[in-house]
Amino acid sequence: MKNRKEDSFMKKTRLFFVLFGIFLLCFGFSLFMTATIKMENSEWYYTWKPPYSEYEASVIITKIWGIVLLIIGGLAELLCLLSKLYESKNIQDVNPITSNTIKCHVCGIKTDSTLTICPKCKTKLRN
Ligand SMILES: [Zn+2]
Repeated sequence: MKNRKEDSFMKKTRLFFVLFGIFLLCFGFSLFMTATIKMENSEWYYTWKPPYSEYEASVIITKIWGIVLLIIGGLAELLCLLSKLYESKNIQDVNPITSNTIKCHVCGIKTDSTLTICPKCKTKLRN
């Protein structure tokens, strides 16, 4: 049982990552294509082999950035997919109320189960 607030937060976070990933993929792809087209169109003038001129270096860096953004975007999409698969598999097992919290028998607040003293009324939670 997961509470709804947490669930919608997770959905929003994942949606953000999916959109962010798509943005990176598009941006990376356009950088990569721009650099590739520039390289193809100027093969007659530039060698594209070291030592690089300033223009060659800038185009090559653009291409590398494009590849890096494609990889990051791809990883973001993959992580979202994995987290969705993981969540749907484990959604029945997760119970944050019983697994991580303990209830104070004096004041009734719920607190972290690793604590030995109630943070509110200072009662000993266990011996
Ligand atoms: Zn207490």
